[in-house]
Amino acid sequence: MTNSTPRICVVGGGPAGLTCARVLQGHGIEVTVYDADDAVDSRDPGGTLDLHADSGQIALADAGLLDAFTARARPEGQAKTRRDHHGTVLAEFTPRPGDEAAPEIDRGRLRRLLFDHLRPGTVRWGHRLVRVTPLGRGAHRLEFAGGTTVEADLVIGADGAWSKVRPLVSAAVPQHLGVCFLDARYDDVDSRHPDVAGIVGAGHMFANDNDGRAVILQRNGDGVVRGYLAFRAAPDWHVGAGVDLTDRESIRAHLAREFGHWSAAMRALIVRNDGDYVPRSFSALPAPLTWDHVPGITLIGDAAHLMAPFGGHGANLAMLDGAELAHAVSRAVGPDPAAGPDAAIGLDAAVARYESDMFVRSGALAVSANEALVRFFATTDEPDLPPDQEQEHRDYLARAQAYRQERARRAGETGETGEMGETGERTGA
Ligand SMILES: Cc1cc2nc3c(=O)[nH]c(=O)nc-3n(C[C@H](O)[C@H](O)[C@H](O)COP(=O)(O)OP(=O)(O)OC[C@H]3O[C@@H](n4cnc5c(N)ncnc54)[C@H](O)[C@@H]3O)c2cc1C
Repeated sequence: MTNSTPRICVVGGGPAGLTCARVLQGHGIEVTVYDADDAVDSRDPGGTLDLHADSGQIALADAGLLDAFTARARPEGQAKTRRDHHGTVLAEFTPRPGDEAAPEIDRGRLRRLLFDHLRPGTVRWGHRLVRVTPLGRGAHRLEFAGGTTVEADLVIGADGAWSKVRPLVSAAVPQHLGVCFLDARYDDVDSRHPDVAGIVGAGHMFANDNDGRAVILQRNGDGVVRGYLAFRAAPDWHVGAGVDLTDRESIRAHLAREFGHWSAAMRALIVRNDGDYVPRSFSALPAPLTWDHVPGITLIGDAAHLMAPFGGHGANLAMLDGAELAHAVSRAVGPDPAAGPDAAIGLDAAVARYESDMFVRSGALAVSANEALVRFFATTDEPDLPPDQEQEHRDYLARAQAYRQERARRAGETGETGEMGETGERTGA
């Protein structure tokens, strides 16, 4: 570190980076976020996210935004239905009134919520990082497309799956998990697609066959349903299949063949979407992934532990990483004396401590999420039924309480400050 006030740069303005910046600012610490997007809403942000009581919601409370989240969230979206490829219901879950274990929010709304609560000018949009160069003593130079450069004492890589920061701490790269999908959306479902609305219900519908094909549909806000039409395949599946990915009808004809043995009602889901299909695939980092701390650099979110989305841990862990790293930085260099009990160990030791806790928090979940994907897309006659959702929701709440108790215990030892209010004032441990 070259200055007494460290220059902190976050690369990536997704859930991880924006949460980290918000909590740092709550601690009175200066931070700049650089993101490749042109604006907060310049691209389709993707589908819905469930924010768990034991992780994403703790981060939101740390950011002073839990009430604001609750006002925007869809608790009824926690509903889940599992069907087979004939449409037969195999398992069903309807959340009880007042169930706040894992309410849903559209990604775009979450991003906007976090962004709107940062100080003006915190996020520099249109900054695509292309290179990070070590300058010695923990300092790094960041170079962006177009040639702009900045120097930082702490670089926080929050730049997702294909992180440009990650290679500075680890040689790990995401591996394809053998499953591809086509992103589909259905607008105004209640009036225009009542069949889709009926099958999806208020939340999520998971359907699979015993040969590695699946349809996962999720109700988003504003009458939109988003879907993942998934199948086991290599990333270049369309080449061998003779499918033109720029031609919706070519994709539709392929899907009609692939899903030909599904019932007519289920097949209709696959070809009735509005707009284009967007081809994507699932990848994950080797798990559990750890590295030896590199001075002046660290990772949060998918950059650190990209995993399969089964279990819905990715964004939740990303936000908790962001909050916990911000607390760790504050304990070492925060301007508030009560928030600086780790001043003696210094910024790098505090960041290394964040990393060891993060490895424990994310490692086992990443392994189980990747295994869940393999099970879901397995070729087997045994249906892979979901876990008991009632129990899962009780578990989220119990783990949330345990997490807060452990924090309070640690805070008692260190005297650190706690969550903040929506306007940024800290409310005490
Ligand atoms: C199909 C699917 C469904 C999912 N469902 C869920 C779910 O229900 N619940 C859940 O918790 N998680 C879910 N996830 C995972 C979740 O989307 C991710 O874990 C989460 O978005 C990670 O947040 P992040 O901030 O680390 O990364 P990202 O959200 O990927 O954000 C990274 C940011 O970095 C920016 N960026 C990237 N490269 C650069 C660069 N070179 N320079 C500057 N900026 C850059 C990007 O523009 C972006 O804003 C799902 C994932 C998928 C694929």
